[in-house]
Amino acid sequence: MGSGTMLVMNEKTCVVDVVRNIMHFFQHESCGFCTPCRRGTRVLYETLCRIAQGEGRESDLPKMIDLAQTMSATANCALAMSPIFFIRTTIERLKDEYLPTLSRRNAL
Ligand code: SF4
Repeated sequence: MGSGTMLVMNEKTCVVDVVRNIMHFFQHESCGFCTPCRRGTRVLYETLCRIAQGEGRESDLPKMIDLAQTMSATANCALAMSPIFFIRTTIERLKDEYLPTLSRRNAL
């Protein structure tokens, strides 16, 4: 996943759900000291929830990368530097996993 973490998944695993659960972990573990981490982990988690519910937009993907990069560059510790690896890796290498949830909205 780009962070020294190896996840074993099969073809039935929803990558969006996996990343959403990881962001829930980061949001929960954020101590709240730094605004980029406190707000950024929440926004990333909420965006992934919306995407998982079929309410995503194509523009969400580059926005999540930009936000995670900003968090990584401005927050105080390694916790906020980790989301970028999961976000960027899955969007750049597994973008097809995101597209069905985005296209559900576009089909309406
Ligand atoms: S980056 Fe570290 S210090 Fe800052 S809010 Fe997140 S967990 Fe706390």
